[in-house]
Amino acid sequence: MAEPTDFPADPAADLAADLAANDTIFGRILRGEIPCDPVHADDRCLAFRDVAPQAPVHILVIPRRRLVNLLEAGPEDAALLGHLLLVAAQVARQQGLTAFRTVINSGADAGQTVFHLHVHVIGGRDLAWPPG
Ligand code: AMP
Repeated sequence: MAEPTDFPADPAADLAADLAANDTIFGRILRGEIPCDPVHADDRCLAFRDVAPQAPVHILVIPRRRLVNLLEAGPEDAALLGHLLLVAAQVARQQGLTAFRTVINSGADAGQTVFHLHVHVIGGRDLAWPPG
């Protein structure tokens, strides 16, 4: 009797499908093609330090399944979006933050530069409001 395995039946097809669906710099991080400085990983998301931090703590929480941004999200994504926010708070606590800001830029005019949804977790300094 065949044993269950974690390996995909067709690794090449699996990678091609992932490349097509997940082709951003964050997709490359998720596939392990470029390094990151991770602070949390689970079956639905990955959190890692921003390469150009805007504050002493600047972490990005990204879903493993690519959503372009919030404009692409639907009711079926409610649990995933909730999970990302809970992980954002967990990561902030782990980093010793008692106050922090979460930001999700959706669309180039709002400052989005990587088109794979991500939650910024920013803290460790006073943050002005309103943002620019
Ligand atoms: P946004 O402008 O909201 O799309 O945010 C994209 C964020 O991704 C920026 O804060 C970048 O500094 C960050 N970023 C881009 N490439 C990397 C990378 N390879 N590793 C970590 N953070 C990155």
